[in-house]
Amino acid sequence: MSNRKPLLELSPEDFILFLKERNINKFHFVYNSKNNNIISSHDELLDIVDFLMNSSRDFAKHEGLFFELDSDYDVIHSASVHRTNRGQAAGGVRFWQYETMQDFITDGLRLAKGMTHKNALAGLWWGGGKGVIANNQALDKNDRELRKTIYTNFGRFITSLNGCYVTAEDVGTSVEDMANIFTQTRFTTCIPDSLGGSGNPSVPTARGVVNGIESALDFLDMGKIEGKTIAVQGLGHVAVPLITFLFEKNVKKVIACDIFEESVAEAKRKFKDYNFEAYVVDKEDNSILYQECDVVSPCAVGATLNSTSIPNIKAKIVCGAANNQLAKVVEDDRLLVDNEILYVPDFLVNRMGIVTCANEQYGYVTDDEFIHQHYDKNWKYSIYATANQVFSESKEKNIPTGEIALDMAERLSFENHPIFGHRGEKIIDSLIGG
Ligand code: NAD
Repeated sequence: MSNRKPLLELSPEDFILFLKERNINKFHFVYNSKNNNIISSHDELLDIVDFLMNSSRDFAKHEGLFFELDSDYDVIHSASVHRTNRGQAAGGVRFWQYETMQDFITDGLRLAKGMTHKNALAGLWWGGGKGVIANNQALDKNDRELRKTIYTNFGRFITSLNGCYVTAEDVGTSVEDMANIFTQTRFTTCIPDSLGGSGNPSVPTARGVVNGIESALDFLDMGKIEGKTIAVQGLGHVAVPLITFLFEKNVKKVIACDIFEESVAEAKRKFKDYNFEAYVVDKEDNSILYQECDVVSPCAVGATLNSTSIPNIKAKIVCGAANNQLAKVVEDDRLLVDNEILYVPDFLVNRMGIVTCANEQYGYVTDDEFIHQHYDKNWKYSIYATANQVFSESKEKNIPTGEIALDMAERLSFENHPIFGHRGEKIIDSLIGG
């Protein structure tokens, strides 16, 4: 096998062949904080350990990375556990196509770290983790039966991790997928409300975005949201309730766009009695961000804030639900400041998805205070208060808001859970027989 490609350069499909030839169907990499090294389940996979140890940008001493081959299809299940001081790792599962094993592993690392920050900044007693399932080009991931089998198998895999990672819904995962996972494991959230879960989190997410906008308006002394003009990118699950809330608050006008004609037409019907404009765009068209308005709200896809779009933004505030809005986390964060635009960090403002589902096993009460406190200006960790703290520190230290929020989240993420301490790490130790 001397002329075999390096493991990280293999496609997930070729990597599966490599594993099958060696009868490996389950493997892991666990960080040992005492020796600052990574324990690999198999010597044949030490290339991956080298990659992780040398990948300072993405590998952030993740406590454990776990993988398993699906028993029915050639896909790989993974669970990346970043940091569990605040509680077991919580974050959604993504079913995606990757060109190489490096892309697949790196995505899990980044997404898991992102969840550590989102959860910590929200004051949740949960750590950060992410599930990623690497699809195989030959499979149709929209096939319902295939999805049922794969998500059922993923559920079994999650059970085998003894709760160090608790999964949830993510981009491209449906509530039905979560119900299939739930048939095999208790370590999942975001299950349908018919099964005792919290259901669709988009409305609370939209409400959180309104809080972020209000916090930014107050910080800039721009007055109330009433009478403002807001541009919204996307007309999906979050954007539509967001626009509803905005009109309830008597904004002057909303301008929106989507790549689908039907979504635009439907929104026009829904908001026909309001000052609402919407138009259809191509995927690459960011013109909505350049509208004359007070606030732009990216609620579609990531990376729309970049060196091309930022200098064209006329609004004073950017605040939306989309994940990973900054194309370049450091540079674009700074560019927004240089263009005198107040950016409300996405992972601060779009927390309500995980907030509504993370604690669903604790049951439901009407107007749940554990959810509502996130909308309460006076609660220390609310969206409004946290955003205000981020803006103040950013101004005082001349450090961009994204970086300030990240630093805050990083500090909070090391606080140990008040009852269970750093139990996730103990679960991982016991999993590998430590
Ligand atoms: P969605 O898929 O329902 O809506 C996204 C909409 O954006 C779709 O209508 C799509 O057609 C449109 N779109 C895609 N590319 C576009 C483009 N280039 N220009 C304009 N429109 C475009 O998703 P959603 O649940 O509304 O989530 C929106 C964003 O918020 C996503 O980035 C998601 O990851 C993030 N987010 C959502 C939640 C939640 O509770 N749903 C929570 C946290 C973060």
